[in-house]
Amino acid sequence: MSAPILRGLHDLRAATLPWRLAGETIGVVPTMGALHDGHLSLVAAAKAVCTRVIVTIFVNPRQFGSPEDLARYPRTEEADAAKLARFGIDAIYVPDGDQMYPEGFATTVSVSGLTEVMDGIHRPGHFEGVATVVAKLFAQTAATDAFFGEKDFQQLQVVRRMARDLDIPITVHGCPTIREEDGLAMSSRNLLLSGRARSLASALPEQMQIVARAAAAGEGFSDAQAAAIRVLDQVGFTSVDYLEMRANDDLALLEAPTRPARLFAAAWLAGVRLIDNIAVEG
Ligand code: AMP
Repeated sequence: MSAPILRGLHDLRAATLPWRLAGETIGVVPTMGALHDGHLSLVAAAKAVCTRVIVTIFVNPRQFGSPEDLARYPRTEEADAAKLARFGIDAIYVPDGDQMYPEGFATTVSVSGLTEVMDGIHRPGHFEGVATVVAKLFAQTAATDAFFGEKDFQQLQVVRRMARDLDIPITVHGCPTIREEDGLAMSSRNLLLSGRARSLASALPEQMQIVARAAAAGEGFSDAQAAAIRVLDQVGFTSVDYLEMRANDDLALLEAPTRPARLFAAAWLAGVRLIDNIAVEG
């Protein structure tokens, strides 16, 4: 059965109040829509943990750097609702821009430290947009649990920090990255890749695996990093924003996996920015 689509905060609160009063657990899965199996894995995780599940779909203008990027972001609400039907969730919350940011809106949630590296540098303002909208979605849904993908590992850590620092009573769950058969991490942005570019995109996870294995084997990180960037360049990636090994918890830059670490990358192919990260087995 398809879940009701709620567009107003009033309707959302009316739906969740009885659940809260009955002491139910409410899981929220924040998304920007164009749902794929990566998103759906979060929905399945939420269903496994919570008695009520809300999926939110909101293409958040505050986390986009340019109006063009925002305009071309895929929007597929009907197909999204159809994909969610089999999960038996309780509500799909699809607020519009005025609902989230009414006139006079003046508050920004800013997390320091974790946002000063990687996408925090390459996408100025992005994490402020994310932290602000996620704080609002947590408050609006009154969820007890939230589900985020490790695909966006920096975002996951920023959200965890924000919830902890603001004493928001919610458990943030990180869920593993779901990949296409050729290893490319599923992403709504993959829809923007043409057939040929799509077939080249798997070079990114392939090269990341090679670098992660070299780092885990104690080989020189910078040589492996430079070799991978060269290959990506030859394949047709136009630039690599970063390819770095960092600690899981505080995202500190590492030259060797001396503590739990991941390899993080962001690279441009055919005008589309792909990001990915994988564990480095230390
Ligand atoms: P987005 O719609 O891109 O904002 O993503 C919504 C949520 O889905 C975020 O928590 C993402 O980390 C998560 N997500 C996106 N792609 C994947 C994937 N391939 N595997 C697991 N989670 C994902």
